[in-house]
Amino acid sequence: MKSDILFHQLPAIWLEKEDAYLIYSPRQREFALLRSDLLEDPMVLRKFRQRGFFHPSSDDSSEQVHSIVLVVTKRCNLQCEYCFANSTPWADSAMAPEMAVGILHKMADLFRLDRVHFIGGEPTLNLPAIQRVVDHARELKIHPVYYITTNGTAPQSVIDWMIGQRFIFTVSWDGIKDAHDRHRPFAGGQGSVKNVQETILYLVKKNADFRVRMTVTKSNLPYLAKSVHWCADHGVKFVHPEPMRPDGRGAILLDSVVSPNEFVQVFSEIVEIAEERSLWIVNSALSNLFEPKQYFCPSARGRTYHFNPDGSISLCYQVQAMHDPLSDVFTIGYYSANNNGTGITLDRNRAERLRSLGSDAYRSCRECFLRYVCSGGCPYRSLKAGRSRCTDPWTCQIRMGILRASIVHIYKRALQEKGSCLEGTFRFYHKTIVEREARYAQARIKSEQQNTSSRYKPGNKT
Ligand code: SF4
Ligand code: SF4
Repeated sequence: MKSDILFHQLPAIWLEKEDAYLIYSPRQREFALLRSDLLEDPMVLRKFRQRGFFHPSSDDSSEQVHSIVLVVTKRCNLQCEYCFANSTPWADSAMAPEMAVGILHKMADLFRLDRVHFIGGEPTLNLPAIQRVVDHARELKIHPVYYITTNGTAPQSVIDWMIGQRFIFTVSWDGIKDAHDRHRPFAGGQGSVKNVQETILYLVKKNADFRVRMTVTKSNLPYLAKSVHWCADHGVKFVHPEPMRPDGRGAILLDSVVSPNEFVQVFSEIVEIAEERSLWIVNSALSNLFEPKQYFCPSARGRTYHFNPDGSISLCYQVQAMHDPLSDVFTIGYYSANNNGTGITLDRNRAERLRSLGSDAYRSCRECFLRYVCSGGCPYRSLKAGRSRCTDPWTCQIRMGILRASIVHIYKRALQEKGSCLEGTFRFYHKTIVEREARYAQARIKSEQQNTSSRYKPGNKT
């Protein structure tokens, strides 16, 4: 059997049954079946080129566009067993509202901000900081899209306020009753599933934008199919399964970590259900499947700054303090405020070093057929596994399994002239970009109208 190959930057998957390579052009959203003896045929290559089939990966050169992630608190009312952030109800690390506003102000001064994402801990426990940021953005007349990652236990009044500000929610829910409560209890020990499901149903009722984020462990594996059906039954549109990683408190839960095979297998079952029940699937492995890139995520690329309560600026949401073991790699600066004003100090060399990590740098990725649609996986994971020049095997096997199966799946759907639920990741983020552009356009028109009216006021002498 022939192996899959990288074909002019595109994945070429060997299909034994067709006796041909399935070549996927993400930018053109096109497939081609090609016999192996025609792979380097000049006529064929010319035709591909003419059709724009070989469009290169993007490096996203819009230097001025930035997103910020604000870790507004390390506190949390839940005590999930696998919490990567080690959050507790007693953590005293929270971002002062003045600091959150100062960061927004400074970043809006330096860049065009397209997204503001609130995370924690449970970010709604520091609502004053969130509200001050939203108010200040309004005063500055900027219109970022707001995201929040929440455990879904906030009171309805808080959810209502966020819906009113058009937040896009990520709600963590690990599945129907036992599946969720096993790892995600309140600090007092009682299960949180009832509260979270009420929030999900409320978001559906209010037609809010949200996804359900499911952390897959050995314990909820048997319940996942039922849980995805529950989502479809109750009007959820986006489901986001990811395997649990042994970080933070989860470091001692190695027995709960699923194997790559288990995850790839359950993922394909979820995809079948999602197609049948009209759900969208979101997953980190699919991030670049429709927009090939040389880097894994906008953070590693330096497009997203994560601001921590201690003022440190990190390029990864997992590095939430200066004392993190990987802080010397991911912390690229700090925010400070004193009598002379506010400031952001950046170590550009460090940011540059991080930017260089990715499928171009990783030896193991250079010849991989998925090089530009996988982009090497998460640098944090690789470094955590002690690998600076290649992706850790666990992550690599999951991404390879999911991406290969996804390309073949999308191809088969395309043959039936059907779209695929696997476009969920692209849709979830793309929709927000479209929305953001519409807001900018609206704001621009308004400000032009204001300028025009002040310039040409009747009776004005110019
Ligand atoms: S809800 Fe999130 S922050 Fe809170 S304990 Fe669970 S994983 Fe940690
Ligand atoms: S991480 Fe694995 S699947 Fe991804 S590009 Fe590298 S070798 Fe390929």
